[in-house]
Amino acid sequence: MEMREVDAPFPGPGEAIVEVAACGVCGSDLEGYVGTPGMADRRVPPLLLGHEFAGTVLEGPDEWLGRAVAIHPLVTDGSCRFCRSGRRYLCPNRELIGLNRPGALAQQVVVPLSGLHALPEGVPQWRGALAEPLAVAVHAVELAGPLLEREVLVFGGGAIGFFVAWAARRAGAKVQVIDISDTRREQAAALGIASADAPQGEVDVTFDTVGIEATRAAAITHLAPGGTAVFVGLHDDESPFSFYGLILQERQVRGSYCYSDQDFARAVSLCGEVPDDYIAHVPLQEGASAFDALAAGSSEYLKVLLEPDGPSLSEVSPTCT
Ligand SMILES: [Zn+2]
Repeated sequence: MEMREVDAPFPGPGEAIVEVAACGVCGSDLEGYVGTPGMADRRVPPLLLGHEFAGTVLEGPDEWLGRAVAIHPLVTDGSCRFCRSGRRYLCPNRELIGLNRPGALAQQVVVPLSGLHALPEGVPQWRGALAEPLAVAVHAVELAGPLLEREVLVFGGGAIGFFVAWAARRAGAKVQVIDISDTRREQAAALGIASADAPQGEVDVTFDTVGIEATRAAAITHLAPGGTAVFVGLHDDESPFSFYGLILQERQVRGSYCYSDQDFARAVSLCGEVPDDYIAHVPLQEGASAFDALAAGSSEYLKVLLEPDGPSLSEVSPTCT
């Protein structure tokens, strides 16, 4: 990964240029960076990474100019049955900014107008970069059904796990985060969320934000009869589990990926409210070392935001090579 000078981006029809204020580093970016099979083939260098971002509209229609925005980073065809029914995240032609298109670990990025969401009044722009991971959580929580008074286990205390726990509690659930990391459990506790290193008993709803065999199995075995498990974590592709346990207890299993426009709008409305502890603000020019630190597992932060440092760095971007 290195900083590179690139040409300023040019907007096509139906597109805008956003000056990036902050862009989060996603677990999937890291998996691509370290070369995890399945994830790395989806992020082919040279590529500008970055799909969790917010900033100011620099070029585009008058009504958007100068506005602070968070960006829904999925680009879809707008014409298939999923796009037409409000579930464009399932579009067979979906592309992601920062994966199929140049991403936002840059000063400027091209975005479709359909992806622009105005930030609420008074919310700092960097908080808009939390909208994307928060939208993943909002969608997963939505798929779990009503959570009022429900007991919920969230496997994984990283950013997505924490946001899922936060959103589930906001929906009225009694939430516990399960993570083997002392640091993650301490963070959850400091943020007011109960935590443990191993699950006990049976609950109504589980969320797996890790995606390994052990957490997937536990997300089902710790589910009460008739309960719902929502799977978000993408670490492994295949994991075995007991179909008898699923069928005989009539448990439900759901996969959750991305978010609808509504979920994203909801996340934007909430991004000013999530706790801002354990969020690192790192200058964009230190992006490469931030990736190395995260890949080495040495980060104590829930989320690292890379922030371009003003006009002196014009058109400089870290490119994954
Ligand atoms: Zn479509």
